[in-house]
Amino acid sequence: MGKMTTYLTKGTVEKEKFRQLTVGGNPGFYLKLGIKCKPTLFFEFMSEERSEGIVLRAIPHKESDRILTLFTPDRGVMSLYVRGLSRTRPALVNLTTPLCRAEFVFRKGRSDLYRFIDGTILDMHLSLRKSYSLLEIGGKMALTILNSQLPGKSAEGLYILLTSFLKVLPKASHPETLWATFQLKFLKAEGLLAVAPTCLNCQKAPATRIVDGESRCVGCSDGMSFPFSQEEWEQLLLLFHVRQFQPLLYLELAPSLLKGIETIYTSN
Ligand SMILES: [Zn+2]
Repeated sequence: MGKMTTYLTKGTVEKEKFRQLTVGGNPGFYLKLGIKCKPTLFFEFMSEERSEGIVLRAIPHKESDRILTLFTPDRGVMSLYVRGLSRTRPALVNLTTPLCRAEFVFRKGRSDLYRFIDGTILDMHLSLRKSYSLLEIGGKMALTILNSQLPGKSAEGLYILLTSFLKVLPKASHPETLWATFQLKFLKAEGLLAVAPTCLNCQKAPATRIVDGESRCVGCSDGMSFPFSQEEWEQLLLLFHVRQFQPLLYLELAPSLLKGIETIYTSN
């Protein structure tokens, strides 16, 4: 018991041990043990939270602070305030750089802004950073999430989508193919697009165009319509439904198809 008490006075290194001692942060168990601790210190430990996340955006604040927008599986997007960046702390600079995937430890502040406590880098995406065009595509994927997700709304599927695409992007012979696929998968995940072989209105004629996010034939198209050739439609079907990266790694798409997908994406 005496050993446990010493943990409380030893500072941050011992915090993890303290957490284990309190059995997943259960204060009742902790109090039963009769460990003495200042109430403020106790609640400080108790309110610590952690989550994996990707840095979508980092805004410099004051002289050496940054306000991060993180994307996490359980909380969706969240804002995190990080203090004390400097050249002498390169790990902290890397950890708070856009597209870094890491495990973050933080505490809820008074507003929606969380306060950074600690973090461990899981993937810096270094191979992405070696090429401007790859970094640009990675940035567009991050922006897609940033512009569409609400704070606190869990988005596990989208998190897996983003992390898996960022990971595989450097392996693609034609990165634009992955960007096009990401756009379609994002619209699919958000319920904004349905690509099918047959017209979803008459259920008879083959579909060749998108109207209001739905697959339609020529006869069932009125208003704003995005037409594709038959060959393009087959590729569109493949990209929309594909469940592995392998078929995409060497696939080159026609500029007209890339443009068509981008048009559908930006119209949403
Ligand atoms: Zn039809």
